[in-house]
Amino acid sequence: ETRAQQEPQDDYASVDLRMDVPHSARVYDYLIGGKTNFEADRVAAHASVEAWPALPISMRTTRAFMHRLVRRLTEEYGVRQFLDIGTGIPTSPNVHEIAQAIAPEARVAYVDNDPIVLTHARALMSSTAEGRTCYIDADFRDPDSIIGDPRLRDVIDFSRPVALSLIAIVHFVLDEDDPQGIVRRFMDALVPGSFLAVTVFTGDTDPVGVGGVSREYNARGIPLQVRDKAETEAFFKGYELLDPGVTLVHHWRPDADAAPIRDQDIAMYAGVAVKR
Ligand code: SAH
Repeated sequence: ETRAQQEPQDDYASVDLRMDVPHSARVYDYLIGGKTNFEADRVAAHASVEAWPALPISMRTTRAFMHRLVRRLTEEYGVRQFLDIGTGIPTSPNVHEIAQAIAPEARVAYVDNDPIVLTHARALMSSTAEGRTCYIDADFRDPDSIIGDPRLRDVIDFSRPVALSLIAIVHFVLDEDDPQGIVRRFMDALVPGSFLAVTVFTGDTDPVGVGGVSREYNARGIPLQVRDKAETEAFFKGYELLDPGVTLVHHWRPDADAAPIRDQDIAMYAGVAVKR
């Protein structure tokens, strides 16, 4: 079935980019080498790197984890539907490019609440003839509105397994908003055989440096929460963790030719589980 690309329904002209304040997606974009960022974002990025010089390494290593995750789920586990929340500014390859290169029929729904991600949504929506993608401007903390969104239902078939990917987003969701409960709400909507992949920002490997990053983000109006390994494992309670369980991102099924990375340079845990 061939289908024209979907256009986001939102009006780009009405988007307020708030260039005067840093946004997490743009700070991240700057630190992984992108160009979609403004002065306030770069100032926040520099202050964070000053507090913890390994931050760009940690971020790029997390991005590389996302690539492996999508490749392995598509190739080894036959996943054909992805729900990616906290997508970020498009940086090739994005989830759909990796999945659809392996399985052209793969379907990907992207969700983010940053206005600048919305303005770049078209880059996230190129599909193969059989595959399909959509972008939804919505908040992770409102799972019911995402799950019920007709644009999502148009792309994702909820009677078949889905991989929910939450890469580098849950540290922006404070415990008072119950991120574990939100994840459970999404997973409850998915059929057995579905997957859950989460990465969690942690100070376990370098508490002082990561504490400094946390302070810089918080001071600039981006509340951020670090979590330890047990708190990371709590996201997967009730699901079956795939080997090797919760690990630092670079230890999750590394490629044979992976360059060596020091644990103390990585502030992100990853886990991938299946719902039975
Ligand atoms: N997943 C991408 C980008 C991570 S940057 C990657 O791994 O490369 C984190 C993204 O989460 C940002 O784009 C930010 O806008 C988004 N985000 C943060 N809080 C969110 C929320 N409550 N709802 C939706 N998106 C959110």
